[in-house]
Amino acid sequence: MSSIAENISAIRERIASAARRAGRSPKAIALMAVSKTQPADSLLAAYDAGQRLFGENRVQEFADKLGTTPLRMNNAEFHMIGHLQSNKAARAAELFHAVDSVDSVKLGQRLDAAAEQLGKTLDVLIEINIGGEQAKSGVSPDSAELENILAGAKDWSSLRVRGLMTVPPITPDPEGARPYFRSLCALRDRMVSRGYPSVSLEVLSMGMSHDFEVAVEEGSTCVRIGTAIFGERSKR
Ligand SMILES: *Cc1c(COP(=O)(O)O)cnc(C)c1O
Repeated sequence: MSSIAENISAIRERIASAARRAGRSPKAIALMAVSKTQPADSLLAAYDAGQRLFGENRVQEFADKLGTTPLRMNNAEFHMIGHLQSNKAARAAELFHAVDSVDSVKLGQRLDAAAEQLGKTLDVLIEINIGGEQAKSGVSPDSAELENILAGAKDWSSLRVRGLMTVPPITPDPEGARPYFRSLCALRDRMVSRGYPSVSLEVLSMGMSHDFEVAVEEGSTCVRIGTAIFGERSKR
């Protein structure tokens, strides 16, 4: 059985190889450990192995983790990556360093108001439903809602829109995800060329345990890895 530390170092090496294949610097790709459903001990093991960036997908679960264990994790950064209801925006703004799953103007407004009250600046990504799947959260590419979020960003004093995030449709072969990653990258380029004020889109959060190397080859700047670091999640 491989340890969390070994898994992290193996993934870092695979990210670096994929980056080199694509002529990119491995430093341009952040590794996020997706610790949803994992006990605090596993987070600490990752932290002790040098991991600093974590992703959680439920506000309450993360609050419980912070509450029940003295998470001695200085300088760790936690991002909300799951679907967030507007009524939990204030709590999320309080607990997380960033929200990578903004999918409506309303949510952006709530997060901005909450962050302003807390006197903090929150980095956010816009989640794109790149495969146009019914059951998935995220904004449709080229939709009015996406334009409204990007245009609305200039009015948000406490949010910084830094990029796009996506979870592509599940494909058995990692290669199957490549067109979706390419399409997110192209969407980002189109949106950048429109020059929305106070929007920077340098972050492309894409790639998970089974397809992160393909994502890196297609320009990902942040891969979100759960299973390949922590092992299978228990069903909840
Ligand atoms: C669970 C999750 C991941 C990690 O998935 P793995 O396949 O376990 O690596 C990444 N991103 C999001 C949004 C998730 O919910």
